[in-house]
Amino acid sequence: MKIAILSRRHDLYSTQRLVEAATARHHQADVIDTLRCYMNITSASPTIHFKGAELERYDAVIPRIGASITFYGAAVVRQLEMMSVFCVNESVAITRARDKLRSLQLLSKKGIGLPITGFAHSPDEIHDLIRMVGGPPLIIKFLEGTQGVGVVLVETSKAARSVIEAFLGLKVNILVQEYIKEAAGADIRCFVVDGDVVAAMKRQAKSEEFRSNLHRGGCATEVEITDEERTMAIRAAHIIGLNVAGVDIVRSHRGPLIIEVNASPGLEGIEKATGKDVASSIIQFIERSVERNQEKPKNKF
Ligand code: ADP
Ligand code: MG
Repeated sequence: MKIAILSRRHDLYSTQRLVEAATARHHQADVIDTLRCYMNITSASPTIHFKGAELERYDAVIPRIGASITFYGAAVVRQLEMMSVFCVNESVAITRARDKLRSLQLLSKKGIGLPITGFAHSPDEIHDLIRMVGGPPLIIKFLEGTQGVGVVLVETSKAARSVIEAFLGLKVNILVQEYIKEAAGADIRCFVVDGDVVAAMKRQAKSEEFRSNLHRGGCATEVEITDEERTMAIRAAHIIGLNVAGVDIVRSHRGPLIIEVNASPGLEGIEKATGKDVASSIIQFIERSVERNQEKPKNKF
């Protein structure tokens, strides 16, 4: 098969591992810089151009779309879907996952456990908003943040009020969320591929920090997950519509709660912590899907 990896950089661990795993399974794997793709969106037979020429025909595409290029990346993936190329994650699912509010609303509708979360536009009723999510300490989060940037822990109502007012004043969309203290700076990353958790790690924040992101200095170890956590991670990925997803769960007094569902989860942390070959799981998923020709693009762009 010919597999394209949509990624901004060849030298990223995840990109390299996907190329390695595809090559080891006798596929051709090319890294295509998402931002250097361009397209005629009005052509009856959609194509993509790359570096001055029409992009060759691929059997499958692995989108690795960073948060900063979601809009353009999703457009490129959508164009590939219209060309009937099998995409590991669909463009609609990628955009859905990038919007924390939209994702949480969908998950909540399906009865998935979440920290109590509020969303508001006007700063007029902040007092009630704070009370609604259970009062301080609480978490304030940018709607489209990533790698822990834009996630703030506020300890008092006074601090919460000023931070919320400041963000709303700057026209930044934020979520106000119950702080799960008992998680003690840890969360569980479940790596879901094709309806199965292929690897799971516990990420522990460094001391004096509540965010467990590896980019914030968190450290990762392999973890045994419970059946409930496994089922929850698989359901969450399914609800968002992702075939490949990194589902983050915190362990609370009232059971596991979902923090977020990532559409382009990194491979480095999870492979190094667990010793599992996650890249090959993704390639095998592509083999199964392309062979069965099951995942015909649906007309829901
Ligand atoms: P990002 O998209 O920036 O990774 P997250 O929502 O995943 O943002 O939050 C980053 C980290 O902060 C999580 O991995 C978790 O460790 C911690 N965190 C986020 N929300 C909560 C919460 N409600 N209670 C406790 N810890 C949280
Ligand atoms: Mg996160």
